[in-house]
Amino acid sequence: MGDARAVTERHLGLFRNVPAARPGLCRVCHSAPAEVRFARGEPHGTAHLCTGCLRTTAGLHRHTPHVVPVSLCAWTGDDRRLYDLLTRRRTPPGGPSPATLLAATLARFHRAHLPCLTRAAGGPFTLVTTVPGVGADRPVEAFDLLPRVVQWVAALRGPHRPVLMPGGDRAAEAALARHVPDERAFHVLGRLDGERVLLLDELFAGGARVQSAASALYRAGAEEVVALVVARLTDPWADTRLADAWARPYDFGRCCLCDPAARLSPDTGWRARLG
Ligand SMILES: [Zn+2]
Ligand SMILES: [Zn+2]
Repeated sequence: MGDARAVTERHLGLFRNVPAARPGLCRVCHSAPAEVRFARGEPHGTAHLCTGCLRTTAGLHRHTPHVVPVSLCAWTGDDRRLYDLLTRRRTPPGGPSPATLLAATLARFHRAHLPCLTRAAGGPFTLVTTVPGVGADRPVEAFDLLPRVVQWVAALRGPHRPVLMPGGDRAAEAALARHVPDERAFHVLGRLDGERVLLLDELFAGGARVQSAASALYRAGAEEVVALVVARLTDPWADTRLADAWARPYDFGRCCLCDPAARLSPDTGWRARLG
């Protein structure tokens, strides 16, 4: 994907900045306002996770605390073009195929932010894998595009192993279709003891798919899982920090972790500035 920059630069209008990770934004997905929860003796409450991440992390064996979206997206109005690309395989007029555009997007972002992703993982990745489509959680035509796309990106192709399979559990798949997390929706091939996994998916809404897959990977022995998702579906008007990031021209040189405005709390395990 030597022309990843050229391809994505022509379609920069598809992408929206993800706000810098900081207190008050969800510390898992960095792209939705955190819910304020009040505990006994804590009059001001604490805000850590957004509504979606609170719901999807509650019942799982283990969730990944690291979700890095390339872009925000919305599903209404003129700003839904990235959403349409990911869910309907609809490309911009005169644009390349969806697979080409996705490969270029992942290649460029991965190249720019591998140090950020690696720090979140606590060391170099030993495995790249994708979340398979299960049940009715996504349109049939959307199946299996990401594994093909990964083959076009040299840096991802080497460490890629398709270790996640549909779990074959009807109830779990039905739950996932209703955005209820259930790790039994996925089956992991073999043991992953000590592996640091870069988990790729296209669309992160509430996170049920990604977090269920991450939980299955942890259960199979993975040491750490970092999810790189193409788009985080959100309401950009729900929070001024999202709206501000949304309004700025998209910059492939920044991610939510390395944005100069990123201020990460110590309990995320990341440094405040990632350099
Ligand atoms: Zn969140
Ligand atoms: Zn970065």
